[in-house]
Amino acid sequence: MSSAISTDVLIVGAGIAGLWLNARLRRLGYSTVLVENASLGGGQSLKSQAIIHGGAKYALHGALTGASEAIADMPRRWREALAGTGEVDLGGVRVLSQAHYLWSPGTLAGNLTSFFASKAVRGRVDQVKGNDLPPALQDKGFKGKVYRLAELVVDTPGVIERLAQLGGDGLLAGERLEPLQENGQLVGLRVDGRDIRAQRVVLSAGAGTADLLASLGIDQPAMQRRPLHMILAKGASLKPLYAHCLGGGTKPRITVTTHPCADGQWVWYLGGDIAEADGVARTPAEQIATAQKELGQLLPWINLSQVQWATLRVDRAEPAQSGLVRPDNAFLAEQGALLVGWPTKLALAPDFADRVIASLERDHIKPGSHDPLPALPRPPLGQTPWEQLLP
Ligand SMILES: Cc1cc2nc3c(=O)[nH]c(=O)nc-3n(C[C@H](O)[C@H](O)[C@H](O)COP(=O)(O)OP(=O)(O)OC[C@H]3O[C@@H](n4cnc5c(N)ncnc54)[C@H](O)[C@@H]3O)c2cc1C
Repeated sequence: MSSAISTDVLIVGAGIAGLWLNARLRRLGYSTVLVENASLGGGQSLKSQAIIHGGAKYALHGALTGASEAIADMPRRWREALAGTGEVDLGGVRVLSQAHYLWSPGTLAGNLTSFFASKAVRGRVDQVKGNDLPPALQDKGFKGKVYRLAELVVDTPGVIERLAQLGGDGLLAGERLEPLQENGQLVGLRVDGRDIRAQRVVLSAGAGTADLLASLGIDQPAMQRRPLHMILAKGASLKPLYAHCLGGGTKPRITVTTHPCADGQWVWYLGGDIAEADGVARTPAEQIATAQKELGQLLPWINLSQVQWATLRVDRAEPAQSGLVRPDNAFLAEQGALLVGWPTKLALAPDFADRVIASLERDHIKPGSHDPLPALPRPPLGQTPWEQLLP
């Protein structure tokens, strides 16, 4: 029987939300244990397109209501973390692109002209031309317009690995979780038979949170899954591109990000509207054919003949949509010693941590004194979809 542990905050789920929160709490002097039942980042986080949104995309459909939305401040907070001067030290982690772009393939529709003039967007978007265009769009055949957003794209494997380092000795590979209760109150969890007592338990288990809540006999907050069918393309002819291609509707027609592979090649990772409802209904072969047709129309100068293709089905896990959920903030619900939430976006991990810390401070939960942790079995680092599907 493993020895019992006591800690200040026990976190379940080591995606971006759990790992960022864990690093921040440790920096504030709290002792923490972070339990993961699969791999670090291997849920949604390493499958994301890693765009640190500032909200410009959401302004397209009027969801961004102003400066009160937490998302507007996320690029600054990530940039400071990446520079080693922020709330967590991500110094040394690679930034894949210092900007994300909006690209309109033809002339801008009227509603988009007003979008670019709108208050939400002013100061955050600049038009770029010529040599300033993303490399993949630098072709005489390119006729569209391109706007540079003050948003960045990060290398998620580097982020996850660095946050795991900052997690020190507190990362625990654990599969079987049971509630630990005293007088009807939650006082921790039993993980694979080992009692872990904590002042607060935070569930940040992404798509696993609904099952975890059910196993604790709790039905709130409700979770929803949003399925996606992403496309991956790998080949020497694909130059870096980080852009939302506008299709005239409220959602980008296609969103392209570019990620490095271990063999030195790059992968284009395609999401946006193409990966949503109609894309989910397509078979992988149909989805690849659709992507080939889209890219052939949008970027006809790019040679796709030697490109390898794959698709990935993945669900986004979020709080069930209701009037209470704001789209551009992390979500946290509290029930006594149990805190449950979803960042809703990789970019919003700092906001998720803010909400947990605000709850601890409000309840006067201070760093306690605890015995040093015993050596714990450590979860492995997760793999990116391109490492798995296009090695
Ligand atoms: C295709 C795609 C593209 C995206 N692109 C972007 C983007 O460009 N920008 C952006 O900001 N956001 C993006 N997102 C959203 C973003 O990825 C997620 O909001 C974010 O990664 C969620 O982080 P998380 O830590 O809550 O969840 P996850 O990363 O899913 O982590 C949850 C962890 O909990 C673990 N777990 C589950 N159950 C248990 C259990 N019972 N016990 C222990 N551990 C458990 C899982 O194994 C996993 O490691 C994208 C999402 C997808 C799917």
